[in-house]
Amino acid sequence: MQIPIVRLALGDAEIEAVSRVIRSGWVAQGPEVAAFEREFAAAMGAPFAVAVSNCTVALELSLRVAGVRPGDDVATVSHSFIATANAVVAVGARPIFVDIQPDTYGMDSAALARAITSRTRAILCVHQIGFPCDLPAILAVARPRDLPVIEDAACAIGSEIRIDGAWQRIGRPHGLLACFSFHPRKLVTTGDGGMVTTSDPTLAERLRSLRQHAISTPNPARHDSHQVALESFSEPAFNFRMTDLQAAVGRPQLARLSAIIAERRALATRYTEALADHPLLAPPTEPPWLRSNWQSYPTTLRPGGRMSQVEIMQFLLDYGVASRRIGNAHAEPAYATCAWSCGQEPCDHTAHAAGRCLRLPLSERARDTTILLPLFHGMSPAEQDYVLHTLRALPG
Ligand SMILES: *Cc1c(COP(=O)(O)O)cnc(C)c1O
Repeated sequence: MQIPIVRLALGDAEIEAVSRVIRSGWVAQGPEVAAFEREFAAAMGAPFAVAVSNCTVALELSLRVAGVRPGDDVATVSHSFIATANAVVAVGARPIFVDIQPDTYGMDSAALARAITSRTRAILCVHQIGFPCDLPAILAVARPRDLPVIEDAACAIGSEIRIDGAWQRIGRPHGLLACFSFHPRKLVTTGDGGMVTTSDPTLAERLRSLRQHAISTPNPARHDSHQVALESFSEPAFNFRMTDLQAAVGRPQLARLSAIIAERRALATRYTEALADHPLLAPPTEPPWLRSNWQSYPTTLRPGGRMSQVEIMQFLLDYGVASRRIGNAHAEPAYATCAWSCGQEPCDHTAHAAGRCLRLPLSERARDTTILLPLFHGMSPAEQDYVLHTLRALPG
C-alpha cells in the first residue's frame, strides 16, 4: 500500500463548477471570485475577505498594507514553512525569529515581548499545522505597543479558538489581517490560491487595489461598460489575482468544510487512541482552548526511544507511508546569516553559521522530534489501519 501525506478529495461538484465557468466565457477574476470571497467571509465570521493567488503573496500584501517598510523588523517564528519568512523579506523587512510554545507549535508571547525593539513594525504569528497559536496572549503584547498582528492562517481554515468564553473560527478578526492558503496540502484547495480576512474596510479596499495593479476600473466593470472607460493606476502594484476557475473549485469545498473537519477529527481521535501506549511515538494533546482542523497530525518522539526521527520516517517510507516534519527557517541556508535573522548587532558571523548566534531551542526541538503522519479527508479505515500497523512494526 502507498499512503501519501495528502490525497486530493475533489469530485463531481468541483468538475461541474469548472465546466460552468468555462461555459460562462469568463475565466479570470470575476463573479466566482466575488462569490467565493463573500462565502469565505461568512464562513470565518469576518466582515471582509479578499482573494489572491496564494498565501505567500497574501502575507506579503498584508505586511505592506499594515505599514511594514524596507528596513523594518517583523517579529515572526522560524518554526514554519519557509513562506512565512519569505513574505517578510519580500517587503524588504527583516524577520526576527521568536521561539514557540511546544504544545501549540505557535509563537510564545513571553519570547515575543523580549524580542520587540524600536525597529519592530509588525508581528506575524502562525497557526501552525492547524493548531491555533495563543492569539489572546500575543495581542496582549501587541496592543499596548500599537503593533499590528498579522496571522499566517495558511493551514488553519476552520480551526477554532476559545476567546472570551466563545468558540470562534480563525479568521474572525482579532488581529489586523489573517491569511489563508488553498494549496493542495491544506483543507480546501484551488490548486494554488490565498485569502485575506479583515474587519477593516479601508484595508480590504487597499488589498483589492494592490492585487490588481491599483487599477481604477476592475476588468469585469470595464468589460460591461457601454461607455469608453480609460483606466488609471494610482501606485505601482501587482498581479496577485485569483481566477474564477480557481474560485469555482473552492466554493463547493468551503460548503463542505464542517464535514471535512469532522472526518479529519475522527481520524485524529483514532490515531490518538492507538498511539496511547506506543513505545516510540506520543500523540499530541489539544489544549482546552483550541480545536485543530487537523490539517496535520503531529506525533512526538518519546524520550529514550532507540530510533531517530529520520530513521522512523525512513522506516515508514520503506513501507509506503509518507511522513513530514516542520522546518526552521533560521537553520536554512536562505536565512542562516545574521543580516537576515539574528537581530543581534554586531553579530558574530562565525557563531551564526555554526548555529550558536540565534538559539531557538523549542523550535529546534519541535523540528527534530515531531513527525507528521498521513491524515486527509477521504482516507479509508483500511489505509489508516495500514499506517497503524506499520507504526506497531517499528523496531523500538
Ligand atoms: C502553506 C503555507 C504557506 C504558503 O501558502 P501558499 O498558498 O502555498 O503560498 C505559508 N505559511 C504556512 C504556515 C503554510 O503552511
